[in-house]
Amino acid sequence: MLPVTRVGVAAVGDEAELPDKRPPLSKGFLTGAITADQLPIRNAAVHEKNRIEFLGGVSVTAIDRAKKTVALSDGQSIAYSKIALTTGGRARPLPLPGAQLANVLSLRSMADAAAIREQLVEGRRLVIIGGGYIGLEIAAVAVKKGLIVTVLESAPRVLARVTAPEISEFYTRVHREEGVDIRLGVQIAALTGEDAVSGVRFVDGSIINADAVIVGIGLIPNTELATAAGLSVDNGIVVDEYGQTSDPDIYSAGDCANRPSEMLGGRVRLESVPNAMEQARHAARALMGQPKAYDELPWFWSDQYELKLQMCGLSNGYDQLVVRGSTANRTFSAFYLKQGRVIAADAVSQLRDFGFMKKLVAARAQVSAERLADEAVPLKELAAEAAV
Ligand code: NAP
Repeated sequence: MLPVTRVGVAAVGDEAELPDKRPPLSKGFLTGAITADQLPIRNAAVHEKNRIEFLGGVSVTAIDRAKKTVALSDGQSIAYSKIALTTGGRARPLPLPGAQLANVLSLRSMADAAAIREQLVEGRRLVIIGGGYIGLEIAAVAVKKGLIVTVLESAPRVLARVTAPEISEFYTRVHREEGVDIRLGVQIAALTGEDAVSGVRFVDGSIINADAVIVGIGLIPNTELATAAGLSVDNGIVVDEYGQTSDPDIYSAGDCANRPSEMLGGRVRLESVPNAMEQARHAARALMGQPKAYDELPWFWSDQYELKLQMCGLSNGYDQLVVRGSTANRTFSAFYLKQGRVIAADAVSQLRDFGFMKKLVAARAQVSAERLADEAVPLKELAAEAAV
């Protein structure tokens, strides 16, 4: 069959729906505050107006770089001049017996979120495996809906990869105050049940009952297509500062892409919505012949209960944590210092200060711990000094 040649852009996605905003899937979509029609990043009319043909429910099975065609799962083949490989990632499966039982769910797509929402019925026992963003955000929604919620985390603390122990302790305390049973350092042996899951068995033989289990134990980047096409892949699809892969006609961005960052002192593959959006914009510019190097400050957010956690920079390697305010309250901020310079910061419900915190981190500001901690010294003042 001859490849179909299209003028314009063909967007191929294995989910049936238009590309959607994922952040609400573990928050507002579960509470019901956000409905499915509010999820598309761009609606059908925008696609049409911009001549973007959306091929949903179809996956790309291979890229033939010599013939410059991509093969689709429905048997079609499309000729291309440029490709943007924005394949994201998938939920890491639980490598334990019983993981295939009914009502064992993970969250990535809108269909996953809809299946989880069906389980959020008052009085049901929900066990969440993984105390990361997904686990904690779903726990917050579920306990508010009246479920009996347990979070099982294998590490000694929640959010261990992304925050300091002080922030992990804060979130553990808040969840416990709200009624979530958080168990740390647990070792799970298997999920139990006949057809549907009925419990979780630990290595010591004890069992906790469950009507549903949600697995939120991390993300695996979707790099298989790139590997099969012979592109350079190393913890993600390797790109340069413009999003270009080892093939000049193929670009990549988002959770699946591994990019250089002078600001962060090496290569990074970030799992972050702001990074995905901004890196994609830069890749699009490069595809259009207007390249602009991408190296922006990473930032993240997470909504749990009424709390808004905002984080910027990467805290790896910090040698001092400065808390501004008190973790005994439900609002404070924290700065990660390395050799006296601010390399990252977390804000808990400090919306007004977060912009200044970003400036301090981006500038790698050298500020004394005393001044950072002193709430009488406005962060605006410290950020202005850092900019000079
Ligand atoms: P995650 O943030 O990487 O957290 C996974 C957690 O599960 C980690 O604490 C991990 O501990 C733990 N874990 C791993 N294996 C386990 C096991 N066998 N038993 C118990 N715990 C285990 O991943 P996620 O929460 O699943 O989220 C998936 C993706 O969605 C990520 O890319 C995340 O950034 C994204 N997401 C982001 C947001 C947000 O930014 N607000 C919200 C939802 C989803 P170890 O670190 O020790 O492995």
